[in-house]
Amino acid sequence: MRGRNDPRVDNLMVIAVASGKGGTGKTTVAVSLAIAAAEDSSEAPLLLDCDVEEPNCGLFLDIDFTSGRDTGVLVPEVDLDKCTYCGKCSEVCVWNSIAVAGETVLVFRDLCHGCGSCSLVCPVNAIEEITHVTGRIEGGSNGTIRFARGILNVGQAMPVPVIKALLDEYLPAAGNSTVIIDSSPGTSCPVVESVSRSDYVILVTEPTPFGLHDLKAAVDVVVNQMKLPAGVIINRDGIGDSAVEEYCTDVNLPVLARIPMDRKIAEILSEGIPLLSGLPEYLDVFRDILMAVRKEVDH
Ligand code: SF4
Ligand code: SF4
Repeated sequence: MRGRNDPRVDNLMVIAVASGKGGTGKTTVAVSLAIAAAEDSSEAPLLLDCDVEEPNCGLFLDIDFTSGRDTGVLVPEVDLDKCTYCGKCSEVCVWNSIAVAGETVLVFRDLCHGCGSCSLVCPVNAIEEITHVTGRIEGGSNGTIRFARGILNVGQAMPVPVIKALLDEYLPAAGNSTVIIDSSPGTSCPVVESVSRSDYVILVTEPTPFGLHDLKAAVDVVVNQMKLPAGVIINRDGIGDSAVEEYCTDVNLPVLARIPMDRKIAEILSEGIPLLSGLPEYLDVFRDILMAVRKEVDH
């Protein structure tokens, strides 16, 4: 079973790591999968950090960044010498990002989604589209893992264009490798954008009532609405109850791994050491996850 919308070579496999909320261990899982893939692949895996409001994967990998550029949204700029104040641009904008008030046109750049509709409907070509910088994408490597991340500028409210730019630029260059995507947390537009080009989604959760609640929301979006194949990793296993396991059985979601609540894990992560560097006994756990996902994707 393959994801959608992009041409791909035979062995390319795109795995997104998502969770219904932050703080579940999503980044730990994404980094660990990339390290495990690097151990077993002839071609360096690609890790894409789409958690653009908090791109933390790079903190665990000694990345040498070699490229980067600003990215943003194409927003309207109105030439008032041409404008007739007809109001058509304001009428067409479903985001209320452009308004005509008397003999002036106000553009609310931070609300603009860059859809281009206003410039299309302007009868006198008074609108030019200019780039409003909202973030940055940058890439590099640590020698065994290729890495790229998006960074949303402080104060910006729209992560999706940064995530889209990151995926557009780096996914086509993935070659024949395994791609791991660290998605934004939650279940809204940034997650949809992050996982939309994936072959498989790993949902990371905790065995608690909160974990179950957020897992259900993530399953609704990823599995029920987007129809993507998915499996679950239960992190901090042992701290709660069995409700998450029972739910997974009920909805036929495979539990790919259980990572125990272990003080040693918390200690090494707090020092910025990747899980598999500090506790290499977990390497086989992540190798097995990759093998299980590969089997599902090639099915
Ligand atoms: S559609 Fe064009 S001419 Fe009409 S108000 Fe907007 S910018 Fe001005
Ligand atoms: S580009 Fe789209 S969202 Fe932005 S102001 Fe124009 S119509 Fe509105």
